[in-house]
Order: sequence, then structure tokens, then C-alpha cells
Amino acid sequence: MPVKNRFAELLPEITAWRRDLHEHPEILFETHRTSAVVAEKLKAFGCDEIVTGIGRTGVVGVIKGKSNTSGKVIGLRADMDALPIHEQTGLAYKSKIDGAMHACGHDGHTAMLLGAAKYLSETRNFDGTVVVIFQPAEEGGGGGREMCEDGMMDRWGVQEVYGMHNWPGLPLGSFAIRPGAFFAATDQFDITIEGKGGHAAKPHETVDSTLVAAHVVTALQSIVSRNADPVDQIVVSVTAIESSSKAFNVIAQRVQLKGTVRTMSTAMRDLAEKRLKAIAEGTAATFGAKADVTYYRGYPVMVNHEEQTEFAAEVAKSVSGACDDAPLVMGGEDFAFMLEERPGAYILVGNGDTAAVHHPEYNFNDDAIPAGCSWWAEIVEQRMPAA
Ligand SMILES: [Zn+2]
Ligand SMILES: [Zn+2]
Repeated sequence: MPVKNRFAELLPEITAWRRDLHEHPEILFETHRTSAVVAEKLKAFGCDEIVTGIGRTGVVGVIKGKSNTSGKVIGLRADMDALPIHEQTGLAYKSKIDGAMHACGHDGHTAMLLGAAKYLSETRNFDGTVVVIFQPAEEGGGGGREMCEDGMMDRWGVQEVYGMHNWPGLPLGSFAIRPGAFFAATDQFDITIEGKGGHAAKPHETVDSTLVAAHVVTALQSIVSRNADPVDQIVVSVTAIESSSKAFNVIAQRVQLKGTVRTMSTAMRDLAEKRLKAIAEGTAATFGAKADVTYYRGYPVMVNHEEQTEFAAEVAKSVSGACDDAPLVMGGEDFAFMLEERPGAYILVGNGDTAAVHHPEYNFNDDAIPAGCSWWAEIVEQRMPAA
């Protein structure tokens, strides 16, 4: 079974929505216009219930099937937020907002889920209830967590939840998925190394925080190479080093380090946090300095549930003929919070041979819309077949 014909018909309309969203990117929880556009369209489609302001600027729509003997409730989730990137695509519909850009394709995700909502509202060819979830702040703000904390899952009795992301490099309109851990836990750290500043010609009268910082940066890589089991995945990256000295002849009093830790299991995450603190504090103490470590836990590991993943892959095969095994991704995904609350699965849809996400020349591929929309619709119609 290929893509649904209705989505081939709707393609120009859904593409126009996508490009309008692309012109008006909004960052994190600031998705005010986007949320209003989503809510207004859901209303026009005849959704049975539309609630705004879930997780600050999130929107939830409810679509009831022709019957509800199954009592099933399926959640379908898209993200709406853009990135603080200056767009360099040169597209006719490029961002109208300086320093903001839909560089992760969330404009496409929102448009595709709207397309599916339009189709499902028209046809209602299922036995149960669909909850369409439009979340803000996927790119680091935890909008998915806030929607969950607002009680979304219980309020609408969501039993299973599904998500999708476009994937540059994956053939256009094809799918890839994997069960179990899929996207990494994404943590951040700040390390402040306090030494004793002084004249660069008199190092013996100082505690050189720059030298300490260099040792800490190097030693932190031993978490990956010596503490972690080699078969596990982990990334430790120090991404910023800032010295309190701006002069060639002043030894810095203080050096600050920033970075990120990516892991694929809670055990690895706990180990990394513990070792990071011990290494920074111990190394600083060795040189007579002091390290102050702050470790921030971000998104948890995103874990696809076995049964729902198998079903999602079968649906993808029915739409696109095949479904690939996806690789592990060391990036984070806020959908992890929804998958902690309910069983479900997250799938990748091919964006074709395009620039990578988060690149200033990236663009969502509108030709992926029929496949993406069909997958959403088939999830509903195959999971809750019309009575
Ligand atoms: Zn992104
Ligand atoms: Zn994204």
C-alpha cells in the first residue's frame, strides 16, 4: 500500500502551511503565532476539542472516530519550535525573522501532523480517539516535559504515543526506526577552576588555573576511554573555555569550562556525572586549586517501546514498502519524556539528500509530506480499525 491518495491531493495545501510556518519561525516556548495557527486550523478541520496553553504554548486537539467501542486513545506528537540560527537558504519563503530559522524541520512536522489531523477529521475512519499534540520548546527547553507535567496524558487518557522526525540522508519518504534506546540523554556541565592569579613571569607565586584547566580537559576524556565499558556509547565534550585573564602577562585567577555529556543508559549517565565531578575536583586539588562543578540533567534517554516500535515499522512498510534499522543518535529528543509516561515509538522519515539539520542551509523537504502524513493516518487506522 503506497501513500494515501488524499495526501497527494492535499500536498499543495500542506506545503503552503509549511512554508508559512517556515517564514515565521519562533524559538522555544515563544511559539505564540505558530500555536495560534495550529489551533485555528484544528478548529477549521472540525476537531472535537482544542485546548491551548498546555506546557505554556502547546496545543492539544481531540478527534473522535466514527465509533469508540475500542476505548483506545492514541497520541500523535509534533514539535513546533525553531532555532536561533541565521538562515542562509536564499529561499523565496526564507525566515522573515532575523536570527531565527526552522533549521530542524519542525515546520514540516507541524504541517504534516496538521495534514493528518485534517484527513482524520474528514474521514474518522477509526474506532477510538486520536489526540494530536503540538509541543513547543523541543530544542532544549523541555516543552514535552512541561506538557506532561500539565497532566496531558491523564487528562485525555492517552494510552500510546507516537512521534516522527525528518532525517537528511535517509532516502526521501522512506522510514527508519529502532527499538530500545534511540536518542541520547543530553546533560550539561559547568566547571569553575579557582586558582591564584598573578604575574606570568612569577608562576611560582600563583596557582595557574589555565594549567589546571588543561589537565581537567584532558583527564575528562578518561571517562570515555577508561571508565565506560567500551561497548557502551558515551560522549564527553568540553565546548567552551573562558579565562578571567585577557592579557599575555597575567596568569588567570579563574577558568571556566562548559560542555556536554551524552549517554544511552541511566547507569552510564550516573557514572559520567560521578566521574566528571571526581576528576575535576581531584585534578584541581592536585595542583592546589579548587574546582566547582555544576551538572545539569537535560533530556533523558529516549527509549522506543518494543511492541509499538514493531507496529510503527509495519505501518512504515505499508506506506513506503520498507523500513530501515535506524542507527543510534547521540543527539537528544524531548519526546523522551512522553515515552517515559506512555508506551510508544519515534520514527525517522527520509528528507533525502539535503543539508543536515541545524545547518543554515537546511530545509525541510516538502516531498516527504505524503509519506509522513500517510504514516500518521495509518498508525490510527491500523491500530484502531473502524468497527
Ligand atoms: Zn533540532
Ligand atoms: Zn528537531
